[in-house]
Amino acid sequence: MSDDQHTTELDAVVVGAGFAGMYMLHRLRSIGRAGRVFEAGSGVGGTWFWNRYPGARCDVESMEYSYQFDDALQQEWEWSERYATQPEILRYANHVADRFDLRRDIQFDTRVLSAVFDEGPGRWAITTSDGGQWSAQFLIMGTGCLSSTNTPHFEGIGSFEGPTYHTGQWPPDGVDFTGQRVGVIGTGSSAIQSIPIIAEQAADLTIFQRTANYSVPAHNGPLDPDAVREIRAHYADFRAANSLMPGAFGSTVPRGETSVLEATPEEIEADLESRWERGGLTFLAGFNDFMLDANANEIAAEFVRRKIRSIVDDPATAELLCPHHVIGCKRLCVDTGYFATFNKSHVHLVDVSEHPIECITPKGLRTGGTEYEFDSLVFATGFDAMTGTLLKIDVRGVGGRTLQDAWNAGPRTYLGLNVHGFPNFFTISGPGSPSVLTNMMVSIEQHVNWIADCIAFLSEHGKNRIEATEQAQDEWVEVINMIAGATLLNNCNSWYLGANVPGKTRVFMPFPGFPTYVEVCNDIVANGYRGFELAE
Ligand code: FAD
Ligand code: NAP
Repeated sequence: MSDDQHTTELDAVVVGAGFAGMYMLHRLRSIGRAGRVFEAGSGVGGTWFWNRYPGARCDVESMEYSYQFDDALQQEWEWSERYATQPEILRYANHVADRFDLRRDIQFDTRVLSAVFDEGPGRWAITTSDGGQWSAQFLIMGTGCLSSTNTPHFEGIGSFEGPTYHTGQWPPDGVDFTGQRVGVIGTGSSAIQSIPIIAEQAADLTIFQRTANYSVPAHNGPLDPDAVREIRAHYADFRAANSLMPGAFGSTVPRGETSVLEATPEEIEADLESRWERGGLTFLAGFNDFMLDANANEIAAEFVRRKIRSIVDDPATAELLCPHHVIGCKRLCVDTGYFATFNKSHVHLVDVSEHPIECITPKGLRTGGTEYEFDSLVFATGFDAMTGTLLKIDVRGVGGRTLQDAWNAGPRTYLGLNVHGFPNFFTISGPGSPSVLTNMMVSIEQHVNWIADCIAFLSEHGKNRIEATEQAQDEWVEVINMIAGATLLNNCNSWYLGANVPGKTRVFMPFPGFPTYVEVCNDIVANGYRGFELAE
């Protein structure tokens, strides 16, 4: 490291100290490169640092949602439940930071504001919120897919007299809603996890629903020590089997390879019922065409609607809670007691699909001409996903072109790893990679390993610069459109498409299919980084 006119020189700047940034730092060290991580928050863990709302937990099982790069770590860390809670995952992130001595190269409470590629030296000039200036050969974004909260621009939003909370920026010390009248806006995964817990405390709880959501039970519980022992005895094999699954998880649950349209009603019922009883995200894995054929999809959708009607006592409320879009085209929710919460007399559901929320008022909010009054208001309104956080940073590549400009018609990347015109710039789980369609721990490790190997390859071959060609990037964007277009993933207003943020360009952002993606990445490397330009 050298210091020149207050600019500190580094091999790599990593943005974000979630699971992506932490492992990236570890890998940079392993290839002998000096990296520094900047993190806006005051601790590690990213998602699990910020999303401390009641009931926050994983929807991927804990033996799978963890790092696999270090066998001693996965052998020694004890998960307590089938689905880990947010506090437990945050403890794990802190344990990893200590175990691998990561903190000495992480600067907390520091936001990266801008990064400009200086073509002369071929380095990134980076500025941070503490006034720091940094020069790095590589700029690596571990900024997360779900790290910029989305709060709709409701009229009067600042006028509410009570406290407001966003699930994605929850106060670290928690919130006690005991005896309060509480309003919750949204019925996505964050709402579906938090509503049953908030209902236990609140005197009166009103949920404002724009789109009903599909949710399957978690059937969470303590981990079975025998099952844990069995996984640990063959952990590498377990990980390898999971990496061959489309979402990089769930290899122990049988998958069906036949069409639901060719099955008998009894076979279908038995399969869906057993998956409902098992719980979790493998609910749609029993047949191979739930996400390919609208008639097939409707069968699973109607099964869930029947379950909702059987759980919720009041028929009108049950009908309002029944979703009617394609099941699986938004990430399936996994809940504990969500639908049954609506049987409590102090829990109310207000449909805002036809009468949008008009405004926030000093006492509550107004919709359909009625004012609802609360003591506290919770925004469970999600994120400006996949691109929001990246575009908040003023990133300028070759010729001063901004990332904002390069992506004005939606994100364009090669493999979700690099952007043409932005040399030595890497995005971990960037748009164009499987990321949010998978167990993200697996996707993150695959990307970090690819990037670290690439940096090592460049030095070994006397190269200093790597950049995707425009042609390779165009072809990759086409491939994603083609694959996603052949599924039902495009068929609803999901955040995968950016449809949840008014004005955002509607483009399907993640790449469906983890194993295919890994094959392509490996093949590109085996062919001398095909589609990239490498220069001295
Ligand atoms: P993040 O954890 O989002 O970390 C990014 C970090 O970058 C943040 O700490 C942020 O503060 C920092 N940052 C951003 N911009 C800047 C800047 N300009 N300067 C400095 N720092 C910056 N995935 C699953 O696979 N299974 C699950 O069950 C699951 N559950 C989830 C539950 C919730 C509530 C949410 C929101 C997401 C969930 N996810 C889940 C996705 C989750 O985001 C990933 O699994 C994973 O934690 C992402 O890690 P990351 O390091 O890539 O990003
Ligand atoms: P989300 O799925 O985007 O849900 C946001 C909710 O807010 C939706 O119900 C949305 O309605 C509603 N909303 C947004 N703007 C609104 C408006 N103007 N008026 C009324 N309602 C509005 O966000 P999230 O629940 O935070 O989840 C985001 C992702 O994070 C998940 O898909 C998942 O990947 C991850 N996550 C995972 C877990 C887990 O189980 N481990 C938990 C939480 C989050 P519409 O549907 O009509 O847009």
